[in-house]
Amino acid sequence: MDERLTEACTVLHVDMDAFFAAVEVLDDPTLRGKPVIVGGSGTRGVVASCTYEARVYGVHSAMSSVEARRRCPHAVFISGRYWRYSELSTKLHELLHSYTPVVEAIGLDEAFLDVAGVRRILGPPTAIAERLRREVRDTLQLDCSVGAARNKLLAKLASEAAKPIATTGGRQPGRGVVVVPPEHELAFLHALPIRALWGVGPAAASRLAGLGVATVAELAAIPEEALCRVLGAAHGQHVARLARGVDDRPVVADRVAKSVGHEETFASDFHDHGALHPQAVRMADAVCERLREAAVRARTVTVKIRFGDRTTITRSHTLPQATASHRVVREVTLALLQAVDVGPGVRLLGVSASGLTSTPELHQLSFEDLERTAEPSEGGSSAAGNEPAWAEVEAALAAIRARYGQAAVAPAALLGGDGLSVKRRGDTQWGPDAEAGRPSSH
Ligand SMILES: [Mg+2]
Repeated sequence: MDERLTEACTVLHVDMDAFFAAVEVLDDPTLRGKPVIVGGSGTRGVVASCTYEARVYGVHSAMSSVEARRRCPHAVFISGRYWRYSELSTKLHELLHSYTPVVEAIGLDEAFLDVAGVRRILGPPTAIAERLRREVRDTLQLDCSVGAARNKLLAKLASEAAKPIATTGGRQPGRGVVVVPPEHELAFLHALPIRALWGVGPAAASRLAGLGVATVAELAAIPEEALCRVLGAAHGQHVARLARGVDDRPVVADRVAKSVGHEETFASDFHDHGALHPQAVRMADAVCERLREAAVRARTVTVKIRFGDRTTITRSHTLPQATASHRVVREVTLALLQAVDVGPGVRLLGVSASGLTSTPELHQLSFEDLERTAEPSEGGSSAAGNEPAWAEVEAALAAIRARYGQAAVAPAALLGGDGLSVKRRGDTQWGPDAEAGRPSSH
């Protein structure tokens, strides 16, 4: 799809497919391909989640378990393991927060993201949505559907349209990602049944059915006054707006992220520092962008490295003062990375910042911003911004050197040079706690 059309689609809705049931199948592969129903099995129980194989029989969530059993007697009923869903939900939300701090969770398996602030780093919304879906699968071994549009209403409807479909022929894969560009909003919306709209419940739907309204297109054709007569003024106006695709509710970040991070699995392993450092710098910068967007600063910088054999190590450094400075985070990142023998080949690199504190507006500017925005009349601000940043870097490098060894840290200007950047395979610079294969205590 034309990138210019989708540039405005910065609201993403991520929704796991048949989450509880899919988790049960993940943990017990003998259930794969079978109708699985998670929910209360008693006479008053309801279906919490079911696989698409069960949906083929007309089973759906919120249906009474008795009815579900009648429709699909051979389904496997499971009462559910909330702790396990919650555990995977935490992983999901951590992943979402690695894209943007502006994540609004809607229950365990669903969230809105506003990616407007991270387009420059992560690319157009369509690419972000595709990548997110891939990463959810890689991280959780579970599928999700992603919708992207200008607002929450349309993004949610788009993720619904991206879902797999249960047909009489079985489960059909869905589109996975559906993006609704502004130009297509009305066509997309009008094809839907009115019940698809939030705010049109069973009572409203039956009253509208009395007017001969079944689709959103028919709803949109009804004058607003007529809707208000049937549904009441407030509800009528609300529904009229929804029918036009209007939804002004912002995505509200529901909690302060504990850490802000960025990680990437490479197409082929990196075996030398020279090649890794530009990647690390890019990730450090992405982390700083997110810190700034969230108006927070961080005290701890962590580098995560996964080698080709999948052993994973982390190296952290905590600064005396919280920072959002690109320069500080970059230097600390490179110093931590430099202390690691990358000879065995690095498959994944991650950079994250934690120990977050919220930032007064003035300090929200990164060091680069101070440089960029310094007017001649405020000539002192550049230098004033400069010195503390460098003091932090110096202190950080000294601390990293003390902890991981003298050889670990090269002067910044020399990093990336061939002579210093390539460590011999098997070199260990950081002492006995860091043998390959043993994760550090962080
Ligand atoms: Mg779901």
